[in-house]
Amino acid sequence: MRIILLGAPGAGKGTQAESIKKKYPIAHISTGDILRANVKAGTELGKCAKEYMDAGKLVPDELIIKMVGARLAEADCKEGFMLDGFPRTTAQAEALKAILAQLGMKLDAVANLVIDDETVVSRLVSRRVCKKCGEIYNTVMKPCSTGSVCEKCGGEVIQRDDDKESVIRNRLSVFHEQTAPLIDYYTKEGVLVNVDSSGGKDAVLKILEQMRG
Ligand code: AMP
Repeated sequence: MRIILLGAPGAGKGTQAESIKKKYPIAHISTGDILRANVKAGTELGKCAKEYMDAGKLVPDELIIKMVGARLAEADCKEGFMLDGFPRTTAQAEALKAILAQLGMKLDAVANLVIDDETVVSRLVSRRVCKKCGEIYNTVMKPCSTGSVCEKCGGEVIQRDDDKESVIRNRLSVFHEQTAPLIDYYTKEGVLVNVDSSGGKDAVLKILEQMRG
């Protein structure tokens, strides 16, 4: 299965990915996670990406396309993959098309998680994440019972710099300007399915299962 999870920041792409992975053990490629790992490791890519990420801007296409191209060529993607947070621009979508054609692969579906902006803002300002293991908390819905110490691994639980309200609003406008055109793009390609992001953590999985019959 080869799918893309599309949707505004905070639409729940990561959450949907986790439940899909439990049923289908396919490679989960989150460009945000790969970039954050590079920032943490202090690589050249991480150094270039950090200022864009902290400002809620998109990292330049050529860096992202190179990174995803290399990742998709890895052995674990042969049986299928789930792209989470990529593509985010029409140029990235075009590049992906070329990469997949080269690898002899075709997309099965693009799940578009539909959510309104104010829900995104209230979800993301209350999001907290463990710096060490990535466990996600929410100060309203799922508070960390041990304060700023992760319940799972003992790591430090923090608010991501890009989860501050001004940055979230910036990320949303970037989404509407640069990423939302992909909804039309993939509708024309005949692979888009709209999914209500308030439909629970298995919403995309259920649709994929229906599609597979
Ligand atoms: P995410 O965790 O997917 O929200 O990504 C966090 C940040 O990483 C974004 O706000 C961007 O700065 C950067 N990023 C992630 N994926 C991409 C992408 N496909 N293109 C450009 N920038 C990206």
